[in-house]
Amino acid sequence: MSDGDVLAVVEHRRGSLRPVSYELIAAGSDLAADLGGDLHVAVIGGDVEGFAERVNRAGVDTIHVVDEGEEFNHDVYAATTTALFEAVEPSVLLMPNSVNGLDYAPAVATRLSVPLVSDAVDLSVDNGLVVTRETYGSKVETDVETTTPVAVTIRGGEWPPAEDPGDAAVEPFDVDVDEASVRSTVRGFEEVGAGDVDIGEAEFIVSVGRGIEEEENLELIEELADALDATVAASRPIVDNGWLPKNRQVGQSGKVVTPTVYLAFGISGAVQHVAGMKGAETIIAVNTDPDAPIFDIADYGVVGDLFEVVPELIERFES
Ligand SMILES: Cc1cc2nc3c(=O)[nH]c(=O)nc-3n(C[C@H](O)[C@H](O)[C@H](O)COP(=O)(O)OP(=O)(O)OC[C@H]3O[C@@H](n4cnc5c(N)ncnc54)[C@H](O)[C@@H]3O)c2cc1C
Repeated sequence: MSDGDVLAVVEHRRGSLRPVSYELIAAGSDLAADLGGDLHVAVIGGDVEGFAERVNRAGVDTIHVVDEGEEFNHDVYAATTTALFEAVEPSVLLMPNSVNGLDYAPAVATRLSVPLVSDAVDLSVDNGLVVTRETYGSKVETDVETTTPVAVTIRGGEWPPAEDPGDAAVEPFDVDVDEASVRSTVRGFEEVGAGDVDIGEAEFIVSVGRGIEEEENLELIEELADALDATVAASRPIVDNGWLPKNRQVGQSGKVVTPTVYLAFGISGAVQHVAGMKGAETIIAVNTDPDAPIFDIADYGVVGDLFEVVPELIERFES
Protein backbone atom coordinates (compact mmCIF):
# COMPACT_ATOMS: atom_id res chain seq x y z
CA MET A 1 0.00 0.00 0.00
CA SER A 2 1.07 3.58 -0.46
CA ASP A 3 0.75 6.06 2.38
CA GLY A 4 -2.84 5.24 3.29
CA ASP A 5 -4.44 8.60 2.47
CA VAL A 6 -8.03 8.62 1.27
CA LEU A 7 -9.59 11.23 -1.04
CA ALA A 8 -13.41 11.47 -1.00
CA VAL A 9 -15.27 13.62 -3.54
CA VAL A 10 -18.59 14.87 -2.14
CA GLU A 11 -21.71 15.57 -4.21
CA HIS A 12 -24.15 18.45 -4.41
CA ARG A 13 -27.17 19.34 -6.50
CA ARG A 14 -29.10 22.57 -6.84
CA GLY A 15 -27.33 24.21 -3.92
CA SER A 16 -27.51 21.31 -1.46
CA LEU A 17 -25.03 18.67 -0.49
CA ARG A 18 -26.42 15.20 -1.18
CA PRO A 19 -26.80 12.95 1.90
CA VAL A 20 -24.24 10.52 0.41
CA SER A 21 -21.58 13.20 1.01
CA TYR A 22 -21.69 12.63 4.76
CA GLU A 23 -21.68 8.87 4.22
CA LEU A 24 -18.54 9.22 2.08
CA ILE A 25 -16.91 11.10 4.94
CA ALA A 26 -17.87 8.36 7.42
CA ALA A 27 -16.56 5.63 5.11
CA GLY A 28 -13.43 7.63 4.28
CA SER A 29 -12.62 8.50 7.87
CA ASP A 30 -12.85 4.86 9.07
CA LEU A 31 -10.78 3.75 6.10
CA ALA A 32 -8.09 6.41 6.58
CA ALA A 33 -7.84 5.42 10.26
CA ASP A 34 -7.46 1.73 9.31
CA LEU A 35 -4.86 2.58 6.67
CA GLY A 36 -2.99 4.98 8.94
CA GLY A 37 -3.43 7.90 6.54
CA ASP A 38 -5.33 11.18 6.29
CA LEU A 39 -8.79 11.84 4.92
CA HIS A 40 -8.92 14.48 2.18
CA VAL A 41 -12.34 15.70 1.05
CA ALA A 42 -12.92 17.46 -2.27
CA VAL A 43 -15.70 19.94 -2.88
CA ILE A 44 -16.05 20.80 -6.56
CA GLY A 45 -18.27 23.65 -7.72
CA GLY A 46 -21.38 25.32 -6.33
CA ASP A 47 -21.30 27.21 -3.01
CA VAL A 48 -17.83 25.82 -2.25
CA GLU A 49 -17.33 27.87 0.92
CA GLY A 50 -20.69 26.88 2.39
CA PHE A 51 -20.18 23.25 1.41
CA ALA A 52 -16.65 23.25 2.90
CA GLU A 53 -18.11 24.40 6.23
CA ARG A 54 -20.69 21.66 6.18
CA VAL A 55 -18.29 18.83 5.31
CA ASN A 56 -15.89 19.92 8.04
CA ARG A 57 -16.70 16.86 10.13
CA ALA A 58 -14.63 14.84 12.57
CA GLY A 59 -12.12 12.63 10.81
CA VAL A 60 -11.54 15.01 7.90
CA ASP A 61 -7.97 16.34 7.74
CA THR A 62 -8.03 18.54 4.63
CA ILE A 63 -10.83 19.96 2.51
CA HIS A 64 -9.83 20.85 -1.04
CA VAL A 65 -12.08 23.49 -2.52
CA VAL A 66 -12.33 23.72 -6.29
CA ASP A 67 -14.34 26.74 -7.40
CA GLU A 68 -15.42 25.49 -10.84
CA GLY A 69 -18.99 25.95 -12.06
CA GLU A 70 -22.31 25.74 -10.26
CA GLU A 71 -23.57 22.23 -10.95
CA PHE A 72 -22.07 18.86 -11.71
CA ASN A 73 -20.34 18.68 -15.05
CA HIS A 74 -18.74 15.49 -16.35
CA ASP A 75 -15.71 17.15 -17.93
CA VAL A 76 -14.99 19.45 -15.00
CA TYR A 77 -15.34 16.66 -12.43
CA ALA A 78 -13.23 14.23 -14.46
CA ALA A 79 -10.46 16.84 -14.96
CA THR A 80 -10.43 18.20 -11.39
CA THR A 81 -10.69 14.82 -9.67
CA THR A 82 -7.83 13.52 -11.80
CA ALA A 83 -5.71 16.60 -10.99
CA LEU A 84 -6.54 16.35 -7.26
CA PHE A 85 -5.66 12.67 -7.23
CA GLU A 86 -2.31 13.43 -8.83
CA ALA A 87 -1.65 16.18 -6.25
CA VAL A 88 -2.80 14.26 -3.14
CA GLU A 89 -1.63 10.79 -4.29
CA PRO A 90 -4.11 8.90 -2.09
CA SER A 91 -4.25 5.14 -1.73
CA VAL A 92 -8.00 5.19 -2.20
CA LEU A 93 -10.28 7.55 -4.14
CA LEU A 94 -13.91 7.42 -2.96
CA MET A 95 -16.83 8.69 -5.04
CA PRO A 96 -20.58 8.17 -4.70
CA ASN A 97 -22.24 5.36 -6.63
CA SER A 98 -24.81 7.89 -7.80
CA VAL A 99 -25.87 8.90 -11.30
CA ASN A 100 -23.19 11.61 -11.23
CA GLY A 101 -20.56 9.42 -9.59
CA LEU A 102 -21.05 6.67 -12.14
CA ASP A 103 -20.80 9.29 -14.86
CA TYR A 104 -17.29 10.52 -14.06
CA ALA A 105 -15.68 7.77 -11.92
CA PRO A 106 -14.83 5.51 -14.90
CA ALA A 107 -13.32 8.47 -16.78
CA VAL A 108 -11.11 9.34 -13.79
CA ALA A 109 -10.03 5.72 -13.28
CA THR A 110 -9.18 5.43 -16.97
CA ARG A 111 -7.18 8.67 -17.01
CA LEU A 112 -5.24 7.59 -13.91
CA SER A 113 -4.91 3.96 -15.01
CA VAL A 114 -6.17 2.76 -11.63
CA PRO A 115 -8.71 -0.02 -11.06
CA LEU A 116 -12.31 1.00 -10.29
CA VAL A 117 -14.57 -1.04 -8.03
CA SER A 118 -18.17 0.17 -8.06
CA ASP A 119 -21.12 -0.05 -5.67
CA ALA A 120 -19.26 -0.86 -2.45
CA VAL A 121 -21.40 -1.74 0.56
CA ASP A 122 -18.46 -2.21 2.92
CA LEU A 123 -14.72 -1.49 3.02
CA SER A 124 -12.09 -3.22 5.13
CA VAL A 125 -8.34 -3.57 5.28
CA ASP A 126 -6.58 -6.93 5.16
CA ASN A 127 -3.11 -6.67 3.62
CA GLY A 128 -4.78 -4.40 1.09
CA LEU A 129 -8.20 -2.82 0.61
CA VAL A 130 -11.11 -5.27 0.52
CA VAL A 131 -14.26 -3.93 -1.14
CA THR A 132 -17.51 -5.75 -0.40
CA ARG A 133 -20.10 -5.74 -3.20
CA GLU A 134 -23.45 -7.44 -3.62
CA THR A 135 -23.97 -9.73 -6.60
CA TYR A 136 -26.62 -12.07 -7.98
CA GLY A 137 -29.45 -9.66 -7.20
CA SER A 138 -28.08 -8.93 -3.70
CA LYS A 139 -28.20 -12.61 -2.81
CA VAL A 140 -24.41 -12.96 -2.53
CA GLU A 141 -21.78 -10.72 -1.00
CA THR A 142 -18.44 -10.66 -2.78
CA ASP A 143 -15.17 -9.44 -1.30
CA VAL A 144 -12.93 -7.89 -3.92
CA GLU A 145 -9.27 -7.70 -2.87
CA THR A 146 -7.69 -4.71 -4.55
CA THR A 147 -4.27 -3.28 -5.14
CA THR A 148 -3.76 0.38 -4.41
CA PRO A 149 -4.11 3.03 -5.59
CA VAL A 150 -7.72 2.22 -6.37
CA ALA A 151 -10.94 4.11 -7.11
CA VAL A 152 -14.16 2.97 -5.43
CA THR A 153 -17.76 4.17 -5.66
CA ILE A 154 -19.85 3.61 -2.54
CA ARG A 155 -23.55 2.82 -2.38
CA GLY A 156 -25.70 5.40 -0.57
CA GLY A 157 -27.41 4.35 2.64
CA GLU A 158 -24.71 1.88 3.70
CA TRP A 159 -22.71 4.09 6.10
CA PRO A 160 -24.11 6.22 8.92
CA PRO A 161 -23.62 9.89 7.98
CA ALA A 162 -20.69 11.65 9.67
CA GLU A 163 -22.19 14.13 12.13
CA ASP A 164 -19.63 15.43 14.63
CA PRO A 165 -18.00 18.75 13.72
CA GLY A 166 -14.32 18.74 12.77
CA ASP A 167 -11.43 21.16 12.38
CA ALA A 168 -10.04 20.32 8.97
CA ALA A 169 -7.77 22.66 7.04
CA VAL A 170 -9.60 24.23 4.09
CA GLU A 171 -7.40 24.74 1.04
CA PRO A 172 -8.33 26.15 -2.36
CA PHE A 173 -7.22 23.93 -5.21
CA ASP A 174 -6.59 25.62 -8.53
CA VAL A 175 -7.00 23.55 -11.60
CA ASP A 176 -6.74 24.77 -15.13
CA VAL A 177 -9.78 23.24 -16.82
CA ASP A 178 -9.32 23.73 -20.54
CA GLU A 179 -12.59 25.30 -21.76
CA ALA A 180 -12.33 23.50 -25.07
CA SER A 181 -12.39 20.18 -23.20
CA VAL A 182 -15.75 20.97 -21.54
CA ARG A 183 -18.14 19.44 -24.02
CA SER A 184 -21.20 19.02 -21.80
CA THR A 185 -23.29 21.57 -19.92
CA VAL A 186 -26.22 21.37 -17.52
CA ARG A 187 -29.15 23.00 -19.30
CA GLY A 188 -31.63 22.70 -16.44
CA PHE A 189 -33.42 20.29 -14.20
CA GLU A 190 -36.57 18.39 -14.91
CA GLU A 191 -38.24 16.90 -11.88
CA VAL A 192 -39.05 13.22 -12.23
CA GLY A 193 -42.83 13.03 -12.35
CA ALA A 194 -44.06 16.61 -12.24
CA GLY A 195 -45.02 17.63 -8.72
CA ASP A 196 -43.89 14.26 -7.38
CA VAL A 197 -41.49 13.71 -4.50
CA ASP A 198 -38.03 12.21 -4.19
CA ILE A 199 -38.46 9.21 -1.86
CA GLY A 200 -34.67 9.20 -1.42
CA GLU A 201 -35.03 12.41 0.62
CA ALA A 202 -38.12 11.36 2.64
CA GLU A 203 -37.92 11.23 6.43
CA PHE A 204 -41.01 9.08 6.99
CA ILE A 205 -42.05 6.45 4.47
CA VAL A 206 -45.20 4.35 4.30
CA SER A 207 -44.38 1.57 1.86
CA VAL A 208 -46.72 -0.96 0.35
CA GLY A 209 -46.31 -4.33 -1.32
CA ARG A 210 -48.32 -6.99 -3.08
CA GLY A 211 -50.29 -7.63 0.12
CA ILE A 212 -52.42 -4.61 -0.88
CA GLU A 213 -54.06 -6.86 -3.51
CA GLU A 214 -55.90 -4.24 -5.63
CA GLU A 215 -55.00 -0.83 -6.99
CA GLU A 216 -58.10 0.72 -5.36
CA ASN A 217 -56.82 -0.38 -1.95
CA LEU A 218 -53.88 2.00 -2.31
CA GLU A 219 -56.27 4.74 -1.16
CA LEU A 220 -56.01 3.28 2.32
CA ILE A 221 -52.23 3.66 2.27
CA GLU A 222 -52.49 7.22 0.90
CA GLU A 223 -54.89 8.06 3.72
CA LEU A 224 -52.45 6.75 6.33
CA ALA A 225 -49.57 8.63 4.72
CA ASP A 226 -51.66 11.83 4.88
CA ALA A 227 -52.46 11.25 8.53
CA LEU A 228 -48.76 10.73 9.31
CA ASP A 229 -47.46 13.36 6.91
CA ALA A 230 -45.43 10.57 5.33
CA THR A 231 -44.35 9.71 1.78
CA VAL A 232 -45.77 6.70 -0.06
CA ALA A 233 -43.33 4.21 -1.58
CA ALA A 234 -43.70 0.64 -2.83
CA SER A 235 -42.15 -2.68 -3.72
CA ARG A 236 -41.57 -3.53 -7.34
CA PRO A 237 -44.79 -5.47 -8.13
CA ILE A 238 -46.85 -2.36 -7.31
CA VAL A 239 -44.79 -0.38 -9.83
CA ASP A 240 -44.74 -3.20 -12.39
CA ASN A 241 -48.55 -3.23 -12.18
CA GLY A 242 -48.55 0.47 -13.01
CA TRP A 243 -50.27 1.37 -9.73
CA LEU A 244 -47.51 3.78 -8.70
CA PRO A 245 -44.79 5.47 -10.78
CA LYS A 246 -41.28 4.04 -11.00
CA ASN A 247 -39.81 6.81 -8.87
CA ARG A 248 -41.70 5.34 -5.89
CA GLN A 249 -39.98 1.97 -6.13
CA VAL A 250 -37.66 1.05 -3.28
CA GLY A 251 -34.93 -1.47 -3.91
CA GLN A 252 -32.11 -2.71 -6.00
CA SER A 253 -33.66 -1.61 -9.27
CA GLY A 254 -35.48 1.26 -7.59
CA LYS A 255 -34.24 3.84 -5.10
CA VAL A 256 -32.20 3.58 -1.94
CA VAL A 257 -34.04 5.29 0.91
CA THR A 258 -32.75 6.25 4.36
CA PRO A 259 -35.76 7.58 6.27
CA THR A 260 -36.06 7.84 10.03
CA VAL A 261 -39.07 5.52 9.90
CA TYR A 262 -39.98 2.95 7.22
CA LEU A 263 -43.41 1.36 7.61
CA ALA A 264 -43.74 -1.75 5.38
CA PHE A 265 -47.24 -3.07 4.71
CA GLY A 266 -47.68 -6.42 2.92
CA ILE A 267 -44.04 -6.54 1.78
CA SER A 268 -42.31 -9.92 2.04
CA GLY A 269 -38.77 -8.52 2.38
CA ALA A 270 -37.12 -9.98 -0.72
CA VAL A 271 -33.38 -9.19 -0.88
CA GLN A 272 -33.90 -6.88 -3.83
CA HIS A 273 -36.36 -4.80 -1.79
CA VAL A 274 -34.27 -4.87 1.38
CA ALA A 275 -31.26 -3.57 -0.58
CA GLY A 276 -33.12 -0.27 -0.89
CA MET A 277 -34.43 0.22 2.64
CA LYS A 278 -32.20 -1.52 5.14
CA GLY A 279 -30.54 1.82 5.94
CA ALA A 280 -33.78 3.14 7.51
CA GLU A 281 -33.31 4.09 11.16
CA THR A 282 -36.46 2.27 12.34
CA ILE A 283 -38.25 -0.40 10.30
CA ILE A 284 -41.80 -1.38 11.20
CA ALA A 285 -43.37 -4.27 9.28
CA VAL A 286 -46.94 -5.50 9.08
CA ASN A 287 -47.40 -8.89 7.45
CA THR A 288 -49.81 -11.79 7.83
CA ASP A 289 -46.96 -14.30 7.47
CA PRO A 290 -44.93 -14.64 10.71
CA ASP A 291 -42.09 -16.15 8.67
CA ALA A 292 -41.86 -13.28 6.17
CA PRO A 293 -38.15 -12.29 5.79
CA ILE A 294 -39.04 -8.64 6.40
CA PHE A 295 -39.35 -9.53 10.10
CA ASP A 296 -35.64 -10.48 10.13
CA ILE A 297 -34.66 -6.85 9.63
CA ALA A 298 -37.66 -5.09 11.23
CA ASP A 299 -37.22 -3.29 14.55
CA TYR A 300 -40.93 -3.72 15.25
CA GLY A 301 -43.21 -6.28 13.64
CA VAL A 302 -46.95 -6.82 13.60
CA VAL A 303 -48.15 -10.24 12.42
CA GLY A 304 -51.50 -9.14 11.14
CA ASP A 305 -53.75 -8.14 8.28
CA LEU A 306 -52.94 -4.71 6.89
CA PHE A 307 -56.64 -4.20 6.14
CA GLU A 308 -57.26 -4.30 9.89
CA VAL A 309 -54.08 -2.55 11.06
CA VAL A 310 -54.08 0.42 8.63
CA PRO A 311 -57.65 1.66 9.36
CA GLU A 312 -56.92 1.45 13.08
CA LEU A 313 -53.71 3.47 12.67
CA ILE A 314 -55.54 6.09 10.59
CA GLU A 315 -58.20 6.42 13.28
CA ARG A 316 -55.63 6.77 16.06
CA PHE A 317 -53.47 9.30 14.24
CA GLU A 318 -56.41 11.39 13.06
CA SER A 319 -57.96 11.63 16.52
C1 LIG B 1 -33.14 -8.20 -10.85
C2 LIG B 1 -34.28 -7.95 -9.91
C3 LIG B 1 -34.44 -6.68 -9.38
C4 LIG B 1 -35.49 -6.43 -8.49
N1 LIG B 1 -35.63 -5.18 -7.96
C5 LIG B 1 -36.57 -4.96 -7.01
C6 LIG B 1 -36.70 -3.68 -6.38
O1 LIG B 1 -35.99 -2.73 -6.69
N2 LIG B 1 -37.65 -3.54 -5.44
C7 LIG B 1 -38.47 -4.55 -5.05
O2 LIG B 1 -39.33 -4.34 -4.16
N3 LIG B 1 -38.39 -5.76 -5.65
C8 LIG B 1 -37.48 -5.98 -6.62
N4 LIG B 1 -37.42 -7.19 -7.23
C9 LIG B 1 -38.51 -8.16 -6.96
C10 LIG B 1 -38.31 -8.92 -5.67
O3 LIG B 1 -37.54 -10.09 -5.94
C11 LIG B 1 -39.67 -9.37 -5.11
O4 LIG B 1 -40.39 -10.10 -6.07
C12 LIG B 1 -40.54 -8.21 -4.64
O5 LIG B 1 -39.81 -7.35 -3.79
C13 LIG B 1 -41.75 -8.76 -3.89
O6 LIG B 1 -42.61 -7.70 -3.60
P1 LIG B 1 -43.65 -7.83 -2.39
O7 LIG B 1 -42.90 -8.11 -1.14
O8 LIG B 1 -44.52 -6.63 -2.44
O9 LIG B 1 -44.54 -9.08 -2.85
P2 LIG B 1 -44.60 -10.58 -2.31
O10 LIG B 1 -43.26 -11.19 -2.27
O11 LIG B 1 -45.68 -11.23 -3.08
O12 LIG B 1 -45.06 -10.40 -0.79
C14 LIG B 1 -46.32 -9.94 -0.40
C15 LIG B 1 -46.34 -10.04 1.12
O13 LIG B 1 -47.56 -9.53 1.59
C16 LIG B 1 -48.01 -10.32 2.66
N5 LIG B 1 -49.46 -10.13 2.74
C17 LIG B 1 -50.42 -10.62 1.91
N6 LIG B 1 -51.62 -10.18 2.28
C18 LIG B 1 -51.42 -9.38 3.37
C19 LIG B 1 -52.29 -8.62 4.21
N7 LIG B 1 -53.61 -8.57 3.99
N8 LIG B 1 -51.74 -7.93 5.24
C20 LIG B 1 -50.40 -7.96 5.47
N9 LIG B 1 -49.54 -8.67 4.72
C21 LIG B 1 -50.05 -9.36 3.68
C22 LIG B 1 -47.57 -11.72 2.30
O14 LIG B 1 -47.48 -12.54 3.46
C23 LIG B 1 -46.23 -11.48 1.64
O15 LIG B 1 -45.17 -11.56 2.59
C24 LIG B 1 -36.39 -7.46 -8.13
C25 LIG B 1 -36.21 -8.74 -8.67
C26 LIG B 1 -35.18 -8.98 -9.56
C27 LIG B 1 -35.01 -10.34 -10.10
